Amino acid sequence: MISIRRFVIVDLDMRLLFLVSLLFFLVPTSTHAAPQEKRAYEELRAKYLTLRNTDNGVQRLDEWASVANGMLGHVSRHPQSENAASLLFDASIVYEKIYQAHGGKERALRAATLLDRLARDYPGHMLADDALVRRGDLSLYVLEDVDAAKRSYQEVIGAYKETDMYPIAQLRLSELKSGSYLLKEQHAEQPRVKREGAPLIVIDPGHGGEDFGAVGHAGMMEKDVALSVALELEKILVAQHGATVRLTRRKDVFVPLMERTQMANDYEADLFVSLHANASPKGNLSGLEVYYLDNQGDRSSKALAERENSSVRFEGPQGDLQYILSDLIQNAKVEESITFANQLHSSVLSTLSPKWKGLKGLGVKRAPFYVLVGAHMPCALVEMFFMNHKSDGKLLADALFRKQIAQGIAQGIGAYLQEHGA
Ligand SMILES: [Zn+2]
Repeated sequence: MISIRRFVIVDLDMRLLFLVSLLFFLVPTSTHAAPQEKRAYEELRAKYLTLRNTDNGVQRLDEWASVANGMLGHVSRHPQSENAASLLFDASIVYEKIYQAHGGKERALRAATLLDRLARDYPGHMLADDALVRRGDLSLYVLEDVDAAKRSYQEVIGAYKETDMYPIAQLRLSELKSGSYLLKEQHAEQPRVKREGAPLIVIDPGHGGEDFGAVGHAGMMEKDVALSVALELEKILVAQHGATVRLTRRKDVFVPLMERTQMANDYEADLFVSLHANASPKGNLSGLEVYYLDNQGDRSSKALAERENSSVRFEGPQGDLQYILSDLIQNAKVEESITFANQLHSSVLSTLSPKWKGLKGLGVKRAPFYVLVGAHMPCALVEMFFMNHKSDGKLLADALFRKQIAQGIAQGIGAYLQEHGA
């Protein structure tokens, strides 16, 4: 549901933009302010998205700083504009990114201040609750101010009951109480440097934590199947292919979808593989599917994408997706991703088929998965058979079968890299 609606909205926005620009030319005087403001806003946003796509590591610091200044200038010139709050939000992300790349706590503090300002000046805006949770997360994980974090989450609980951020704020507060928020720092253990000459592969075990994914045979959960294959795959890739491997999670924890590709981009990964297991409404479907990202896709692919994407409701600042995911860009790596997906599909089947007869290959398909959006490298999503199919489900419960899937995926990765280089 969410994904389709989003594209419709984007489309509608484009048409509105077109109509508004048309009006701009037809109506000569006094009404210019709004279209001009909108045009300036669109320009800023385009500049910002281009930077995110071409310089995600924030090498060109002055360009990032200039975009942030442009955004804040726009907000002071047009404080009443509906775009002001969005720009404060974007500017805070820019400062946070600059902080992540170059350090300097004052930048993180600046990001936090902008989020405060958004929540204070635009309390009715759709991003106000997102700003507060993001503010809380900054306090907690970067500024190490637990009390400030608590205040931000509590404000969401008090004033934003009906929003998608409400359960997140609740979750964060309970994590604060139990101390389990410390686990989130796990990413820091993995250095963000690439080893010379070795391919870097990011493996993304789908779902995790309170997001179970599909539930199948004997209560088996997709999140556990995905993690178990991921850990096997990591071992094989390191031992047999000399690869550097990063996992988006190594434990049963929740990781937001956008953070997963963000990690792949930050690591400058050569390949990104997201691991999932399928389920069908009636439990009668079986087989292997591999997906690459595309916004077209047939109807059943879309239904699956909706299910996989539904974990966005567990997420943090990404709640108001159609806004934030306008960072969804033309995917320059589609051709490579299709080749990669095909390679994975055939390698997994040829590895498994000698031992397990009658396994089905359902082929390579395209679908709009959030987790593949925004990745700057060839990427694929593997639906490793059907959790709730009688024989597929039984096989997935077998550790040897899962190990062999990992072996097949590793072989596919190896074959792809051999042909295309790292
Ligand atoms: Zn899944």
